[in-house]
Amino acid sequence: MSVWNFSAGPAKLPRPVLEQAASEMLDWNSSGISVMEMSHRSPEYEQILSDALTDFRDLFAVPDGYSILFMHGGATAQNALVPINLIASRDAQKADYVLTGTWSIKSHKEAQRFADVQVAASNQVEKEIDGVLYKSGMWMPEVSDWKINPDSSYVHFCSNETISGLEMKDLPNMANLGAPDVPMVIDMSSHILSRPINFDGVGLIYAGAQKNLGPAGVTVVIVRDDLIGFTKDICPSVFNYENVKGGNSGFNTPPAYNVYICGLVLKWLRSKGGLMPIHEQNLAKARSLYELIDKSQGFYKNEIQPKYRSDMNVTFTLPSEELHNLFLKETKANGLLGLKGHKSVGGIRASIYNAMPIEGVRELAEFMDSFVAQHG
Ligand SMILES: *Cc1c(COP(=O)(O)O)cnc(C)c1O
Repeated sequence: MSVWNFSAGPAKLPRPVLEQAASEMLDWNSSGISVMEMSHRSPEYEQILSDALTDFRDLFAVPDGYSILFMHGGATAQNALVPINLIASRDAQKADYVLTGTWSIKSHKEAQRFADVQVAASNQVEKEIDGVLYKSGMWMPEVSDWKINPDSSYVHFCSNETISGLEMKDLPNMANLGAPDVPMVIDMSSHILSRPINFDGVGLIYAGAQKNLGPAGVTVVIVRDDLIGFTKDICPSVFNYENVKGGNSGFNTPPAYNVYICGLVLKWLRSKGGLMPIHEQNLAKARSLYELIDKSQGFYKNEIQPKYRSDMNVTFTLPSEELHNLFLKETKANGLLGLKGHKSVGGIRASIYNAMPIEGVRELAEFMDSFVAQHG
């Protein structure tokens, strides 16, 4: 029986990456030692790091003038580190936050400890759109309705809310909002590298690796260089972007093995032809599940505003708690793992990041079809 891991994070890694890591575990590239045992100041690790950075920049088309940093502390640390490092980059020392779900709400809450922040938009009320009533958190505030202070140091948002499965498909254009100088700060933890993006107006992107990039324990930060150098004195040195950049992501001992695995994932993405084919495959995977949900005549339900349904985290509910429990029990027995929704919202969540092949999604779809045939 094949096993498919739909966990939201830490999440499935590409099989060839794990196979290569296994084969190199005891002896990396004829060095005689494991990457885990290597000095982070050795030429071997420097090669691993520099390949990872180059591959990341190429794949994601990160323009000149942006630095790519590998940091500690997860995406959650960035909730504090973004205001501490960036709030003083403009005189008003204010920031705007868009609230669209659990993760962006956490970011806003933490930022309040360090900065004068305001809410630019929020989906935390129910709303009628085109005759359909959406529950709180299930719809996306249109960018034209965001209230951005033109003096703000940045506007923060989360472009894929992992728990509800709500995804912003295109990045906003701040010039259209009368705030052309306000850089966007984006939590992309759960869909970074799932598609190409346009860097116009991007100030900073951060992502914990454990969803779509590698193992837990390393966080990637892409920051526009002109935003570096405004860090507040209270910032621990190890978390000052200027130090991390100056130390080439090795100000102190980095999570070197995790960076190595991320590097293997990046090489795997390149071998797939880059982000365009990956994006198309992601769309096809998500579409097949949403079509099945919509055709199930209300047996499976996804209540997210359709154009913002996530291509990465497909959430749905079943008609009763009994069927929900049976669904989880039977999927597990069939090798379909990690489908239980986040405890705060319940339901089912299938996370289908880059590493989930189309065959895995097909097996889940076949199971869902037979389950509805039996119990619908
Ligand atoms: C998982 C997740 C986080 C939290 O990541 P940690 O690495 O555990 O801090 C933050 N934001 C988003 C969008 C996530 O999916």
